[in-house]
Amino acid sequence: MIYCKDSRELGYKELVKIAMQLNSETDLNHLLQVIVQESNALVQAERTVLFLLDQEQHEIYAKAWSSPDDREVRLPVGRGIAGMVAFNGELINLRDAQNDPRFSDGMVGYTAHSLLTVALKTSSGAITGVLQCLNKNSGGFEEADEEILTAFCELAGLAIERTTFALEQKRLSAQLIFQANHDALTGLPNRLMLEESLAKALNDANRKKHQVAVLFIDLDRFKMINDSLGHTVGDALLQQVAHRLQGGVRFTDIVARQGGDEFVIVLSVVKNLQSVTRITENLLKALCEPFIVSGQELYISASIGISLYPTHGASVTEILRHADNAMYKVKDQGKNSYQYFVHEMDESEQRRLWLMTQLHKALELGELLLYYQPQVEIENARLVGMEALIRWNHRDLGLVAPGEFIPLAEETGLIIPIGAWVIEEACRQAKDWQNRGLPPVRVSVNVSALQFGREDFIETVLHALHKSGLEPRWLELELTEGLLLGDTYSITAKLYQLKEIGVYLAIDDFGTGYSSLRYLQQLPIDTLKIDQSFVRTLGTPQETPKTKALLKTIAMLGYNLDMRVIAEGVETYQQLAYLEEIGCQEIQGYLISHPLKVQEFESFIRQPGGLVASLKKFGPGYNITSIQRTA
Ligand code: C2E
Ligand code: MG
Ligand code: MG
Repeated sequence: MIYCKDSRELGYKELVKIAMQLNSETDLNHLLQVIVQESNALVQAERTVLFLLDQEQHEIYAKAWSSPDDREVRLPVGRGIAGMVAFNGELINLRDAQNDPRFSDGMVGYTAHSLLTVALKTSSGAITGVLQCLNKNSGGFEEADEEILTAFCELAGLAIERTTFALEQKRLSAQLIFQANHDALTGLPNRLMLEESLAKALNDANRKKHQVAVLFIDLDRFKMINDSLGHTVGDALLQQVAHRLQGGVRFTDIVARQGGDEFVIVLSVVKNLQSVTRITENLLKALCEPFIVSGQELYISASIGISLYPTHGASVTEILRHADNAMYKVKDQGKNSYQYFVHEMDESEQRRLWLMTQLHKALELGELLLYYQPQVEIENARLVGMEALIRWNHRDLGLVAPGEFIPLAEETGLIIPIGAWVIEEACRQAKDWQNRGLPPVRVSVNVSALQFGREDFIETVLHALHKSGLEPRWLELELTEGLLLGDTYSITAKLYQLKEIGVYLAIDDFGTGYSSLRYLQQLPIDTLKIDQSFVRTLGTPQETPKTKALLKTIAMLGYNLDMRVIAEGVETYQQLAYLEEIGCQEIQGYLISHPLKVQEFESFIRQPGGLVASLKKFGPGYNITSIQRTA
């Protein structure tokens, strides 16, 4: 193969093109392929082999061939032609290889007579490999081939250097990322990565509506082993523990090392509790099996705390903290066991929860009852109404105040059946009194917002009236201001429906809610019940001109809008006197009577001489003390 000057020029042009191609190559294997193909063509060889120096620099190994060959060829550096070039970096051109003492045939599975072998070097001159072009014929490669292949190998060496450097960089940064996220001793995800993966698992669970379990594992007695047998043994033990934990869960679950002898397992898809319990029990069993470290048998056990998402927490930190919490409970109670997280409740929370469950039974056990508190017209001391106030007579606790259990009933939705029962019972009682000849008076029933908002509320009222036979005009519903704030249209419609039926409507605790005068004007309200907080300060040092002015304004407002105004919580004669002065028509309060049981209420009205014929009888002005007060 003889180069004329022109063809050599062509060769150099070709070389520049190749250089550019080599430069753009990012995949090492592909680059090596390009190198062998191009050099093969460049010197018109029959076969070209590229060797790389191994990491220890003891051997070179064939890495790329111009024509397919998957044989593994390895040569010690310094042995054979390629080995020699790899050793000293000097080009060797054998024109009659078979007769050259340096040549040993068969290394590359090919009987060659001409070999041109050039070193591949980095920019700093370090040898990284060898390129060997072969021809079957002897008399092979010219000086011109030597030159062009040397030039080519310089470029190829640089390209290899650049690509391996980039690869190495990539590998290093991947390694750094791995190290930042993994525990160096066990190779398990560390705390950082655990939190990330757990967040993802919770997210998934949220979307796909399944549960996630977190197992917080702490080894028992590890410190003792570590202290007495040394860190090397401790480390080896931790590695084996990591391995056993991984063996106990699915591939998709997460096993992480939290630090020290603490591990966390995330069971990312939990279908039922039994499976969590089973996995945990198996893990505990696996950890109880002896570990063999440096020829000695070691025994440990573990304490596992479990928390579940979403039952035991809504966030990564909460779920982890609660699992940790449960683990400490296990430690306290003798180790080598597991426990699910349980909410620590303070006493009031415990009572609330207990009351809730009790309240469920209260209705069917007949523990609920109604007390009645008289409402009296100031002008003539006539009984004009009574408010039905619920009481819960719990078998163990005695009387529970509505202030305590009504909010619970609202929270649990129990207020719906309870509220329905109240209306029904109040109607029944009122009708019963009428039937037994007591003067007919209106009964006021408190209605909770939740109850009023129900579509079947009107039906509930109708049913109670129908069942008892009570005329609607003897029933008043006490609504709160808050209740009137919702969807104006449906509320207004309901109120007018109730008016249509003929029941009375009162606003309870008037002045404490989001008072809006708009509804007073628009809605069919009959009665304003002034909240006791305004009345309470009357005649006390807390009384201010403002309170008095406010009371006066409410009374006037009622008068002008043609509504009854009744004051709640009237306890003293002084309060009564002021209320009368400003034109409030009715009162309800301890001054007249506490809320009374059915029997007490009956005797209260039936007392000799009838109920106070006229408040005015009692002086000064009125002799209020003679009005019977029943506790
Ligand atoms: P409320 O409707 O404003 O009832 C008046 C409350 O004031 C009653 O408390 C009554 O016992 C008390 N009271 C009456 N006169 C006086 C007084 O002179 N001084 C003082 N300090 N207090 C007086 P109770 O019976 O504990 O009821 C509290 C609240 O529970 C009621 O306030 C009402 O909002 C609610 N409630 C009672 N029964 C029911 C019911 O059947 N259903 C619903 N949804 N709520 C009810
Ligand atoms: Mg009330
Ligand atoms: Mg009230």
